[in-house]
Amino acid sequence: MASQSLRLSKSRFLAGLQCHKQLWWRVHEPDAPELVPDAALRNVLNQGNEVGRRAREYVPGGELVDLPFYQFDNKVAQTRDILRREPSPPALYEATFLADDTYAAVDILERGPRGYEVVEVKATNRLKPEHLPDVALQVHVLRRAGLQVERAAVMHLNPECRYPDLSTLFVREDVSAPVEGVLLGLPDELAAQQRMLEGPLPQVPIGDHCTRPHDCPFLERCWPKLPDHHVSSLYRIERKQALQYEADGYATIYELPSDLELSVIHQRQVRAVTAGRMVVEPALAQALAQFGSPLAFLDFETVSLAIPRWDGCRPWQNVPVQFSCHVEAHGRGLLHDECLADGASDPRPALAEALVAACAGARKVVAYYASFERDCIRQLAEAVPRLAKELQRIEKKLVDLLPLVRNHVYHPDFGGSFSIKRTLPALVPGLSYADLRIGEGETATLELMRLMFDEELQPAERAELREALLRYCERDTWAMVKMLAKLRTLVAEQLELF
Ligand code: SF4
Repeated sequence: MASQSLRLSKSRFLAGLQCHKQLWWRVHEPDAPELVPDAALRNVLNQGNEVGRRAREYVPGGELVDLPFYQFDNKVAQTRDILRREPSPPALYEATFLADDTYAAVDILERGPRGYEVVEVKATNRLKPEHLPDVALQVHVLRRAGLQVERAAVMHLNPECRYPDLSTLFVREDVSAPVEGVLLGLPDELAAQQRMLEGPLPQVPIGDHCTRPHDCPFLERCWPKLPDHHVSSLYRIERKQALQYEADGYATIYELPSDLELSVIHQRQVRAVTAGRMVVEPALAQALAQFGSPLAFLDFETVSLAIPRWDGCRPWQNVPVQFSCHVEAHGRGLLHDECLADGASDPRPALAEALVAACAGARKVVAYYASFERDCIRQLAEAVPRLAKELQRIEKKLVDLLPLVRNHVYHPDFGGSFSIKRTLPALVPGLSYADLRIGEGETATLELMRLMFDEELQPAERAELREALLRYCERDTWAMVKMLAKLRTLVAEQLELF
């Protein structure tokens, strides 16, 4: 029997399935800094817990094994007591079992006429291959603990569900047959993991498994630091292609042979990196013609909720809740407009009103990666039909700054990325996001959710957070203003040269 600290659990088993070395570190270094959940992971876990609680309402009448998750043995004992009781309830939530030195907690265990059904709740919009070993481990442990398990299901969110009708929030997919297939190899894998954990750190080479199905938290420990302008930094290069270049002896962009067939963007990237300076295509002048004044520069921020809260929204929909807009006003320079949701009520009507007012005088509306802004405007038009026509007019005025940069300019400091966070400081030295409290989109999304839904947020903290979010979004549109000005300067400089 393994010592208690070496016992497996469902999450440990799944980590071991991805990589034995990862599992070894998780078990032997549980306090490793890499294992502290970051804000993004905490958000996923919190929303997952909310989905788990909600799912119980769709399998009613059950009894919750109501102990903290780390009290494994007490949960096992409580589960046993409930199952022995006469009559036992039709379902158990968080029932926990121990067999083969492995714990398994079941989100919903439902009693059927001939045995039990294991129901795993997932806060995803579809069934994924990695859900099967997760369910299989539960079925294995329950059967080894003496329970008659006849069926297994994954209950995931339904992407077709629309608020306020949450009667179809979940889809329950029967996975009994594929799980039985996974079960064939499961006892051997379980035993292999348990043997491995009793030995020293196993040697596992790095590979595709390091990021599949999830990014391993120990990537920085195992993966070597790459030199600047490594071939993997070629814009959107496939991993296989980068590995091939490396195998052919070309580790960095500097070493690539001149007769190599490359895409137009890669050719420009190679030219810029090898010359050590920015490359600007002559066609930029013509491409800039579409940005005719007066311009509005627009950027949205969104939140994404597993369980929708506003009319017409589906699970995990990116819903616009904030925008910033710099507008060229004839004779008055640039004006700035902004709108940010306040509280948990539907922010879209106020956002739509403010957007229509902000863009009223604009001939073109500039965005960076405009398909995102297009989607946000369409959502607003759907949510606020009385403003649909005005919003559609704004949508038709959208022009995209990102392809303008991507197809005409490359600076060695882009590092193979055309995200505004990379292109801005390279094109407009001295302007970046480094001085802001919120400096990137994922943090902004999480902080927006805190601002809108955290009822315990104190007024001073709320005001500070609001201000930080406003300044972040404002920087996105100010960045576009300055970038466009820079691109126009580059064109003017080119014309002077000829
Ligand atoms: S980085 Fe790769 S090899 Fe290293 S522990 Fe993680 S999965 Fe295993």
